[in-house]
Amino acid sequence: MLNSPVWHPFTQHGIEPPMRRAVSARGAFITDAEGNRTFDAISSWWVTTHGHRHPTITAAIEQAARTLNQVIFAEYTHDAAEQLARGLLAVAPPGLAQVFYSDSGSTAVEVALKMALGHFFNRGQKRHRIVVLEHSYHGDTIGTMSVGARGVFNLPFTPLMFEVERLPFPDGSGARMLEAFETLCRSGDVAALLIEPLVLGAGGMCMYRPALLTALRDIATRHGVLLIADEVMTGWGRTGTMFACSQAKISPDILCTSKGLTGGSLPLAATLATADIFESHLSTDRAKMFFHSSSYTANPIACSAGLANLEVWKTEPVQGRIDRIAHQLEGLLVATGNTVENPRRTGTIAAVDLVVGDSGYLSDVAPRLRAFFRSRHMLIRPLGNVVYLMPPYCSGADEIGAAWDTILEAAEAVSKGKL
Ligand SMILES: *Cc1c(COP(=O)(O)O)cnc(C)c1O
Repeated sequence: MLNSPVWHPFTQHGIEPPMRRAVSARGAFITDAEGNRTFDAISSWWVTTHGHRHPTITAAIEQAARTLNQVIFAEYTHDAAEQLARGLLAVAPPGLAQVFYSDSGSTAVEVALKMALGHFFNRGQKRHRIVVLEHSYHGDTIGTMSVGARGVFNLPFTPLMFEVERLPFPDGSGARMLEAFETLCRSGDVAALLIEPLVLGAGGMCMYRPALLTALRDIATRHGVLLIADEVMTGWGRTGTMFACSQAKISPDILCTSKGLTGGSLPLAATLATADIFESHLSTDRAKMFFHSSSYTANPIACSAGLANLEVWKTEPVQGRIDRIAHQLEGLLVATGNTVENPRRTGTIAAVDLVVGDSGYLSDVAPRLRAFFRSRHMLIRPLGNVVYLMPPYCSGADEIGAAWDTILEAAEAVSKGKL
């Protein structure tokens, strides 16, 4: 039996060592009960952008908690939600007009799917098919698993999952993917293309060129298909720009954001939609309203943290930090040697594939790698045989360099069968 009643996410308690106990975190480091300071090289599963406990965000949370806690958002609005919505629209790709709050990346995507289907339903158009990209990940609820890649992690749930159309992940030119999308669109019943722009995160840090996203947008537009950008991971500077879509110079019809929305301090998500999608739900007919809510919709404390995050972006050289990290990672990728394959980078995300025989998700090299990284005080979690860095923007060049060296050291050990 475990000596804790806590059931941890994505954890096989039967083989994992006991969890380390985090007692504090600051900047790019997490301190555990034994006093170990660990470099958070993956931003605590991609949420921490400016670093842990950024003073501006922490102060905003303290201030908000003294004034207003959760209030029912179907009866009230409040300043934090209003200002954050305006702030989000100001930094998001142009053309988005309305902000719907929820509380996690998964719910932001569920909301997006419901908006897309509701849009066509309310307009009496028979469009219901969803198209996604191979290797995609959009969350762990039944709906978001359905639109994500299938694998051992969702096998037990397949009886409840719905079918979607899948485009092949782009090879060199991406022509096969674009053709497949065009063909599907011609059927006339596709509602939306749901896509992680530029980087497919949990699917293995798979990266593709902005030009392909632009081309997908063009096809969608020509066929009246909605484009849903899941920027839950890619948003807030991860790919080098505030949102990944802007590198392709496109605007989605619906944009999902969460993770970095509060700088990684509190759970909050938002789904941004065009006026067109909002207006298809706008009516004197109650049956056309958008039927969705989370109990904690637009939590005032979380919204205040989101506002403080925007403030940090406005008042601190965040873009400069991102550019510096991107530049350093690009340099590190040049000399990776032959123990890793497919070195790649987009913005502050750098990834390599380790050369191991069995590269599946359950490949047992992953736990050994994690133990190795842990012994080096690095929080690095391989995705199967893919190892990546996604550090907070406050990370120092020394820390990033050391984390990269540790990855290469691990790769070397794996290639020699020593790990
Ligand atoms: C993490 C993630 C999600 C799910 O977000 P949760 O907050 O974990 O529910 C959805 N989409 C993408 C692209 C993600 O990286």
